[in-house]
Amino acid sequence: MSAVVSRFAPSPTGRLHLGHGYSAVRAHDLARGADGSFLLRIEDIDGTRSRDEHVATILDDLRWLGLDWDGPVVRQSRRLGAYEAALEQLRRLGLLYPCFCTRADIAQSASAPHGPGGALYPGTCRGIDAGGRMAEPHAWRIDMAAAVRITGPLTWHDARAGTVAADPLAHGDVVLARKDAPASYHLAVSVDDAWAGVTDVVRGEDLFASTHVHRLLQALLDLPTPAYHHHPLLTDAGGQRLAKRTGAPSLADLRARGEDGRALADRLRGTGISTENA
Ligand code: GLU
Repeated sequence: MSAVVSRFAPSPTGRLHLGHGYSAVRAHDLARGADGSFLLRIEDIDGTRSRDEHVATILDDLRWLGLDWDGPVVRQSRRLGAYEAALEQLRRLGLLYPCFCTRADIAQSASAPHGPGGALYPGTCRGIDAGGRMAEPHAWRIDMAAAVRITGPLTWHDARAGTVAADPLAHGDVVLARKDAPASYHLAVSVDDAWAGVTDVVRGEDLFASTHVHRLLQALLDLPTPAYHHHPLLTDAGGQRLAKRTGAPSLADLRARGEDGRALADRLRGTGISTENA
């Protein structure tokens, strides 16, 4: 059996809170408990929202929790060539088209049905002749129906949900390269997990639905499919999902208050929330 490789992949767009800490502890422990590797990847392709100061704080937070990672910290902003190569592969399959729509254009489309990530793209730019417009800002979208015709039915495995039938069509023609960033979350995460040899993805169940798209990209790009462990999200006493906007303290706040990070990590281990099927 190959060794377990897990990862924690935060976006440095703000401070980590307890929910992130919980995810990191779970991913770390899954690898360490199996004598495997735990990797750290900073998802900073969003140049407008990512901040270096948050990267430094994330590393301090993890050390404070007593979590150590293997190898160098990977930054997605240094891996743009890999995403461009993956886009090129998909372009050669005839699956990508440039999209010139603004958010407002999409929101105004009265007929836009909804998917897991909000309004589905109504397909306005699919099939248009973009010849004279390529100097204008544009994203690249995948023609999902055509992609599904190539892959056929796909499944993936989640530790709690079991075997899941992938439903990428529910997401519509998602963006794979943004106007302001040469990749989207879906593309970068799929390419990077495979490149790093990640065998087990531990993350919050808010990303469960995204896995349908990741599974499709793995099939199209000929990448291996990791096992998934989507865990419930931590909530406060009122049942609200922890987030900055609901007043959850950041790990950095707790650290500054002199809390013991290792003891906190142990409390997170004891929450009774498991990533595995009980
Ligand atoms: N960067 C994502 C986030 O911070 C997590 C990505 C993942 O674990 O797949 O929400």
